[in-house]
Amino acid sequence: MCLSCEIGAQLGAFSEAILAGSSRTSRRRVLKAGALIAASALLPPLLQSHARADVKADSDRPMPADGPADWLFENGTILTMETDQPRVEAVAVRGRAIVYAGDRSGAQAWIGPGTRRIDLQGRMLMPGLVDSHVHPMLGTLFSSGFVIDANAKEEQVIDAIKAHVKADPGTGVFFGVGWNTNLWQAQGGPHKRDLDAIEAERPMLFLSSDAHSAWANSKALALAGVTAATKDPPVGGYQRDANGEPTGLVREAPAMVPMIAALKLLAPERYNPALKAMLQTFAQMGFTSLFDAGMPLGLETIFAALVQMDEAGALPVRLHATRMVTNKDQVQGAVADLAELNRRFRSEHFTVRTLKIVADGVIENRQAAMLEPYQQPPGARGQLALSEANVQGLLRQCERAGFDVHFHTIGDASLRQALDALTAVQASGGQPKLTLAHVQVVADSDQQRLARLKPLITSTGIWCIRYAAVEDALGAERYRKMFRFGRLQRDHGVNVALGSDWPATYGSGTLGIRPFLNIQAAILRQPPPPLLEAMGSSLGADAEQPLPPQADAFTLEGALQAYTLAGARQMGLEAITGSIRVGKRADLVLLDRDLTAIPTEDIHRTNVLLTLMDGRSTGVDRS
Ligand SMILES: [Zn+2]
Ligand SMILES: [Zn+2]
Repeated sequence: MCLSCEIGAQLGAFSEAILAGSSRTSRRRVLKAGALIAASALLPPLLQSHARADVKADSDRPMPADGPADWLFENGTILTMETDQPRVEAVAVRGRAIVYAGDRSGAQAWIGPGTRRIDLQGRMLMPGLVDSHVHPMLGTLFSSGFVIDANAKEEQVIDAIKAHVKADPGTGVFFGVGWNTNLWQAQGGPHKRDLDAIEAERPMLFLSSDAHSAWANSKALALAGVTAATKDPPVGGYQRDANGEPTGLVREAPAMVPMIAALKLLAPERYNPALKAMLQTFAQMGFTSLFDAGMPLGLETIFAALVQMDEAGALPVRLHATRMVTNKDQVQGAVADLAELNRRFRSEHFTVRTLKIVADGVIENRQAAMLEPYQQPPGARGQLALSEANVQGLLRQCERAGFDVHFHTIGDASLRQALDALTAVQASGGQPKLTLAHVQVVADSDQQRLARLKPLITSTGIWCIRYAAVEDALGAERYRKMFRFGRLQRDHGVNVALGSDWPATYGSGTLGIRPFLNIQAAILRQPPPPLLEAMGSSLGADAEQPLPPQADAFTLEGALQAYTLAGARQMGLEAITGSIRVGKRADLVLLDRDLTAIPTEDIHRTNVLLTLMDGRSTGVDRS
């Protein structure tokens, strides 16, 4: 499932050497020690600090006499996510803040000549959406190429590439994503000679639809210095012919990284405009806050661009980034490095203040760490990336430095490691802020510990569906107990957030990002029709049936909380966003329908008409 985290782990190990150099995917579910750490403890608590300062200023009760509202929303359903006042009749916005939330009559005092009045007329207003686990930076790299249809046959792929080359008479790189790894099986995969015949002077690199393979021409191999003498990395490698000569088929991220670097796919002039457009896409979908759960390469260049974008008033979302740790060799110095990134790169809406730990892999390739072996192959049970001592140490260091920890866990063994480490740190008086991401398989006894210890959790709605390959790997019993969040949220008060994990998620293009697709899936534990269509038969038999246990399905209210306030809490932004309350920032989204009045099966059809961040329209304004 979490292929991004997975790709991140693989790329991360090899990214040190790659600082320059900017793509897209689908299965598909498809980041100087002591002194610096000590110094980081003295740093101001960053974004939170200025968030809190703002709230203090904004929460001096605003009065109409100080000036009329810029926006007034009324006459429709307005969900606030606040328990003491879950619904209001009207909301007024002045400047960047919410100045009124209450009944319609009280709202009238806020109307002035410049007030933009929005009659909701059966539509709905809610807090701006928060994607609490997504990889927009990696997704930008993946989406910056041209798209090859994953259903195309060999000749069609060649024709599409020919047409693309013909349409681009420049001198740059040809980069694309989407060919299907089932093609060219008889020849052992695609071959560089087919690409060389189309273009020999300009480098070409095309990623497969699952992003586990790439296909390069001779020019790209030469630029990356890949020859018969090149050694394969520990994972993946370069397919060779009988003479040891690379054929152009490149397997797995560690072998792809030198190619991505050599082709300068992260070069600012190429990557930055794509990143800006991608963030705009998120704003148009209703997002006002994103948690980037990991980018394995090019961090400094990208962070610098984001700070610059924010300072120019062009960042349409609050964006929090992470620094990844994916194996034991990366533990030493990781928190110091995070502190350094945190110090160097921050602006009003951007910060990096979270350590991302990738504790295991994914079930599909048997890399998720399990307490009991997989059904097959015999004996396989995955592997933990770090030791218990590593995890405890990182939790303690992060707490001391004022940083959060975001912990990728798919298998029940990595989940147990996280809970054991958390328990140990808490026993010695620590209170680290730990978010567990994915939480796919959990032993029953640990499910009870989740209810008791209440770590923060984030997972993905469209993962909560039937998928035969996972059932084959886990066996029926474990398969029937995956993604148990509904009761933790409803009955135990656990902060469960939802995010898309795009681009490591089902479906191609930006389908996987769509929040209302995810919300519907979280409620029904079934794939909404567009997802079922995109996945085709790959989900296996009974894909349209609900995934058990039904008692762990989200309610509509729970899923909306998970996409707003719960995500804001995870990001430490709950004082300024995530709900509609006087004094908070005007992060709001206007929907074309009232989610409380339509069948659950129609939620995925919801369109966003207006997104406000800090009271400013950031998406398309169709209000
Ligand atoms: Zn992950
Ligand atoms: Zn992820």
